[in-house]
Amino acid sequence: MAAKPLLTINDMSIVFSSPDEADIEAVRQVDLTLTPGKTLALVGESGCGKSVTARAVLRLLDRNAKIPSGKILYDTGAGPVDIARLNSDSLAMRAIRGAEISMIFQEPMSSLSPVHTIGDQIDEIIVLHDRLNKKQARERTISLLDQVGVPGARDRANAYPFELSGGLRQRAMIAMALACTPKLLIADEPTTALDVTTQAQILDLLRQLQDDFGMAMLFITHDLGVVAEIADEIAVMYLGDVVEQGDVYEVFRAPKHPYTQALMNSVPRLMRKAERQRLTPIKGTVPSPKDRPNGCAFTSRCPHAFGPCAEIRPQRTMVSTGHTARCHLLTHEKAEAFA
Ligand code: SF4
Repeated sequence: MAAKPLLTINDMSIVFSSPDEADIEAVRQVDLTLTPGKTLALVGESGCGKSVTARAVLRLLDRNAKIPSGKILYDTGAGPVDIARLNSDSLAMRAIRGAEISMIFQEPMSSLSPVHTIGDQIDEIIVLHDRLNKKQARERTISLLDQVGVPGARDRANAYPFELSGGLRQRAMIAMALACTPKLLIADEPTTALDVTTQAQILDLLRQLQDDFGMAMLFITHDLGVVAEIADEIAVMYLGDVVEQGDVYEVFRAPKHPYTQALMNSVPRLMRKAERQRLTPIKGTVPSPKDRPNGCAFTSRCPHAFGPCAEIRPQRTMVSTGHTARCHLLTHEKAEAFA
């Protein structure tokens, strides 16, 4: 039997408003499901809406952003709560943020306080959410730092962020995110600023912690190599649309959307010398959300664009069980030539 979803995003849009310009729709009618013990990778180029989607789940959006439609249903155990309708400063939201859902940010140096030791920063979260006294919280902090592989955790708890290497800072950030044993961990490009060896260690660590805690994970990245390492499911975003999603093996084996195919073709692969080929870049750049085409968001860069693409937005089409894509080719006779 399929596991019960922990978080279900239904038909969610996010709009940014400005006093001088028309509203900008940064995320359009997104549907995502997160399940305990599984990792969903949210993939796409910078500015496609991945981080905004993740921040919406924690209600950490900028003041000029709103969620005009859709739901973010979080299963509290006592029934679903629609996070999209909670006030970001409400008690209910503060009880969820940090304790039930927590986040690892891309650059720990800008997320950790430079004037407090990492131990004090982790202690504070534990005292706030778990109501332990300072001494008990410090013991738990040391145990967490130890668990995420910080050597000499008792001493390192007294270090300031600037005294740690990039890898150790990221481990401290992970310990902080795990301080209250969250049910959902959002990791926003947690390995982008790290060298490949440390990146591999952090990915191993996240997988191990997921096994230990059974948490669901939303992993944001633009790196398909990282997706192959860590994800069970993938959702590919382009200009605020989820253009393809499904089981990671299925999507990697048979990508159906031209943007997913283009992303895959632009990744280097290990090949024998005789098989070596040039990489195929994706031509052009992502349009500004202010100049979004009426139809398919990928029209201006798509080598297969045809008749309806520029004017009609493609519907989400089921390709196989759990695998969907938004492309007119899937519902048009030209699809036969393309498949
Ligand atoms: Fe390309 Fe048209 Fe499919 Fe968009 S709908 S990805 S433009 S073929």
